[in-house]
Amino acid sequence: MRRVCAWCRTDMGRAEGNKLPDSEISHGICPACVDNFAFQQGVSLEQFLDSLAMPVFVVDGDVIVKAVNKAGCAALGKRPGEMLERLGGNVFECAHARLPEGCGRTIHCSGCAIRRAVTKTFITGEPQCDIPATLTRNDADDRSAVALVITTVKHGDAVLLRVDRIEPQPGQISSLSGGLSCSR
Ligand SMILES: [Zn+2]
Repeated sequence: MRRVCAWCRTDMGRAEGNKLPDSEISHGICPACVDNFAFQQGVSLEQFLDSLAMPVFVVDGDVIVKAVNKAGCAALGKRPGEMLERLGGNVFECAHARLPEGCGRTIHCSGCAIRRAVTKTFITGEPQCDIPATLTRNDADDRSAVALVITTVKHGDAVLLRVDRIEPQPGQISSLSGGLSCSR
């Protein structure tokens, strides 16, 4: 089994103490990224986040957005003030978040790949890498599904939620209005 940095994808060599083949991959955080996170924490998290090309949302254990980078603003077509201190489902315009129970408390939420990845990383400290997530959005009266690929990494008391890919689902592009246009 090999270990790969969840954040920068650097190969960290063979994982000690197991006999799994090298095609199996476990994720950690490489020393360079640990240093980078630690250093940036003392300087300016905003500057660090803005240096990243992919959308990154800093969320707490309840998936409340605490910070967002420029790429995240561009991907969602929102200003930071429209996102900070709000639940992820509202920021991402998840259709389920519009239900009276709210993001995290509807019957759909236990299956939410984004919430699960954030929660697991928050509780265990383990990165979650390349997690596919389907976001059902509700734009005006129209529903549209968006396929996301996300990576989560623990950072202090928060989780860095990086959106690695955003793709409208085939056949539902017509109802995808504005925002969420990011891809790499
Ligand atoms: Zn790394």
